[in-house]
Amino acid sequence: MPARDASLLQQAEAIGERLRGWRRHLHANPELSGQEAQTAQYIAAELRAMGYQPVENVGGAHGVVAEAHGGAGPFVALRADTDALPIHEETGLPFSSRNPGVMHACGHDAHTAMLLGAALLIHNNRAALRRPVRLVFQPHEEKYPGGAPAMIAGGALAGVDQIFGIHITSQLPSGQFAIRSGPMMAAVNELAIDVHGKGGHAAKPEDCVDPVVISAEIILALQTIVSRSISLTEPAVVSVTQVRAGTADNVIPERVELRGTIRTYDERARATILRRVREIAEGLARVHGGNAVVRLGDGYPVLVNDREVTERALGVAQQVGFAPDVLKTMPLQGGGEDFAYYGQKAPAAFGFLGAHDPARGPAYPHHHPKFDIDEAMLARGAALHAAFALQG
Ligand SMILES: [Zn+2]
Ligand SMILES: [Zn+2]
Repeated sequence: MPARDASLLQQAEAIGERLRGWRRHLHANPELSGQEAQTAQYIAAELRAMGYQPVENVGGAHGVVAEAHGGAGPFVALRADTDALPIHEETGLPFSSRNPGVMHACGHDAHTAMLLGAALLIHNNRAALRRPVRLVFQPHEEKYPGGAPAMIAGGALAGVDQIFGIHITSQLPSGQFAIRSGPMMAAVNELAIDVHGKGGHAAKPEDCVDPVVISAEIILALQTIVSRSISLTEPAVVSVTQVRAGTADNVIPERVELRGTIRTYDERARATILRRVREIAEGLARVHGGNAVVRLGDGYPVLVNDREVTERALGVAQQVGFAPDVLKTMPLQGGGEDFAYYGQKAPAAFGFLGAHDPARGPAYPHHHPKFDIDEAMLARGAALHAAFALQG
């Protein structure tokens, strides 16, 4: 008999203390991308205590995977990311980071707690499973190349035909769930251009090749890529965010370093922009007698939500008690997310769970030293995950 969905939220509320306990333990003990050893051990121990047989070191890193077997057919996968950021916490919370300079400032502590909560709910309702479930605790989301490719290589998606992930967010009110079908989060490319000229006395420009003037032209010309080479229907951004050059008022420097980022939602637009950046920087530098060395760091691909899985996530959210007026269409996000890799291999949906209670003060953005979430939403996230699996 299927689990009664309305009761799943009640069951999640009933384990609210455990959800908070997991989140607070993880929050107090954050680990950087690629260093999540203690976090992984903690997750595995908690899963074992529930009756799971977790597999550790999935993907050769700190990934943890556990399965619940029941029903028939392909797996439903649920994913949480587990890593923290190189930020010194300033929340003043009693369970603040005990690891100076490292903080769960993106809510991945909440993601892990919600998936542990879902693990418990799924285990308690395992007689109702229609399909097997794989719980994917993935490290290393915050830093390219991400943890998802290694998890996939380690078999996280083997036999999976639907994968669901949730990002908690301080940028939406508590209780809202926002998702969008199709592209939702940007593909990211880092931009690095070193413009080489010929330095010398600032009073003798005729003996120099001034990389500052060349760089100024390059910065402006880069802004013509989106406006002149990309369709008006295609959102994209090219931002130059750092310009480093020079040591004195009267010296033309040898070199200017430009750094920035490129965000796109379509692989063709992405390819066009990358090509044009190179052509513009190299071409302008050459015209002026200098040269430009362009490096376009690879980043996460565009995150694309599968239409059917997205609709199922919305349906499940309603069954679990999210009223239609709190279900929103997520606007395109400029941030990147390595969940995108799962979506390249299997039908996937990734949604945002609002977790800001305005009564508790301002909403600090993600990656801010005062970032915090409304813990009352942990039960919602756990119920959403569990319902997605149990209704699979
Ligand atoms: Zn983040
Ligand atoms: Zn995040």
